[in-house]
Formats: sequence, structure tokens, C-alpha cells
Amino acid sequence: MSNKISKRFAILGYPVEHSLSPDIHNRVFEELSLPYSYEKISITPGEFIQKISLLKLSDWNGFNVTVPFKSDIISVLDKIDPIADQIGAVNTIQIEKNGKWKGFNTDYLGFLRALPNEGTDIKSCLIIGAGGAARAVAFGIISTTQCTRLAIINRSQNRAELIVEDLKKHSAVSMQTYSFDDKITETFDLIVNATTKGLKGIADSYPIDPVPLAHAHTIVYDLIYKPTQFLKIAQSAGLKTINGWPMLVFQAEEAFKIWTGRNFSESVRKELLSKY
Ligand code: NDP
Repeated sequence: MSNKISKRFAILGYPVEHSLSPDIHNRVFEELSLPYSYEKISITPGEFIQKISLLKLSDWNGFNVTVPFKSDIISVLDKIDPIADQIGAVNTIQIEKNGKWKGFNTDYLGFLRALPNEGTDIKSCLIIGAGGAARAVAFGIISTTQCTRLAIINRSQNRAELIVEDLKKHSAVSMQTYSFDDKITETFDLIVNATTKGLKGIADSYPIDPVPLAHAHTIVYDLIYKPTQFLKIAQSAGLKTINGWPMLVFQAEEAFKIWTGRNFSESVRKELLSKY
């Protein structure tokens, strides 16, 4: 086979240097002997429109989109998958043969696949954060599980309220928002940190202490894939924890399916999942 790269993919975001998505995709391309490449493209918020216009003129086959553009990217798409539209966030773009950009959300699937029983036992959930990832988590939890109670707490409470407003159009699950000043007196089966607190370059102080909001079987889940203070305090209290690594692998597999129509092989999936 020629070594010439025949398809090019990249992750767009800021900051993006820390991203392990290229490691995942390039490993899968190598394992399947696909002559594809996957790169990182750093785009600051100020240069978003200009850089996207340039990318539209170049020869790419697909993108992943990360912090902080998962909602902003929607305005530059030609088409959007109905679920991504409902979530209001896109993390995967397929560039069709005619050059049209179509947006998808694979974060919600990755998030659910990383939970025991794909989250079907979860009845109550607290999400901390109200960005693109929090939207995907909220959609995943209320649409495919037995969840009857969803609470969202965010620094900017109005953003959490917007998510609840959107979700209420499609769901009868009981939902409410909290501010960090509120005293929360309920406990949850699942507590998810979907803020950037703990991400490289951002101070790793946890946004909220999950322990008083947990019961003995609560799962504490951080979407960040390195050990954060948030997970460490939950672990010290004996709670079950999940970091963001399995979600990253599973959302990548769902994106790969969109781009190629193929799954990861069992062996490479196992190899990737065991890395962190
Ligand atoms: P966004 O930029 O869209 O949202 C960021 C969120 O973090 C907002 O809720 C924001 O609050 C909050 N936040 C930022 N700084 C602070 C702070 N100092 N104190 C409290 N809250 C803060 O990011 P995404 O939703 O796209 O991503 C969120 C996290 O999820 C990231 O760490 C990302 O790496 C991770 N992620 C992991 C994935 C995986 O596969 N493991 C997939 C997707 C995301 P406010 O609204 O007030 O600004």
C-alpha cells in the first residue's frame, strides 16, 4: 500500500495541545492499515471565523470539535444530525463528497457507554457545568436511562436554565438548576463534573464537593481524563469513580463509525481503554 495520506482528520479547539484524540485515532488507523492522518488544530476564540473559513477551502475529511466551540460550530455547518441539533452541541463533523459539513454529537454515546450497564440503572443525576459536554450528558441521561430526576449546577446559572428549558421540550423528567450558593439537600445516583475545572492550564480546584451529595452507591464521574481533585476526594470517601478516558475512547469510536462505517476492533478498543 502507498504511504500517501488519503484522508485527513483533525481536532479543532482551544486549548487543544493536551488532547489525546490524535493518539486514539492514529493508533486505530495504524492497526487497520488505513492511510489516514489525525492532527490537532488550535483555534483561539478570536480567530474562529477566519480559521474555519480557511478550513472550508482546504482538503479535509472530518473534524472533532472540542472546548470551547461545540455550540459555536453549529452556525458554520451545512447540515446537522437531529440529535446533535436537539443537544445543541456538535463534537464530530463529517465532510461529505460535495464539501458539505454535517455535524453530529458522539459525546452522549461515549458518556453512556462508559457507565456500568450504559447508565440504565441511574435514576437521579447532578451535572456540574452547562457547556457543550454538559448538554450531551444531560441528553444522554434523560433519553436512554431510567432517570427521573436531573439537576444542573453551573457558575452561570442562566446557561443551566437554558439547557433545562431545551430538554423540557422533549422530556417529562423532573429537572431543576442550582447555583453554587444554594444548599443542596438531596443525593444523586450519579454526579458528573462537566466543567473545565481540573483541565490542564486551568486551576485544579473542584467546582463542588461531591461527597455530601452522594449515597453509598453513587458514581462520581469527571469528564476530564486525568485524575482530578474532584475524583480524588470522591475516591477517598470510598465512592465509585469514572474518569473521562473511557468516554473519550467511546466517543472517538462513534466518530470513527461516522467517518468510515467501521467499528474499532475489539483488541484495539481493549488496548486503548486500558491505557489510563
Ligand atoms: P465548555 O467550554 O463548553 O464549558 C465549560 C464549562 O465549564 C461551563 O459550564 C463553564 O461555566 C465551566 N467553567 C469553566 N471555568 C470554570 C470555573 N473556573 N469554575 C466553575 N466552572 C467553570 O466546555 P465543554 O462543555 O466542551 O467541556 C467541558 C469539559 O468536559 C472539558 O474539561 C472537556 O475536556 C471535557 N470533555 C471530555 C470529553 C471526554 O470524552 N472525556 C468529551 C467532552 C468534553 P460557565 O458557563 O459559567 O462559563
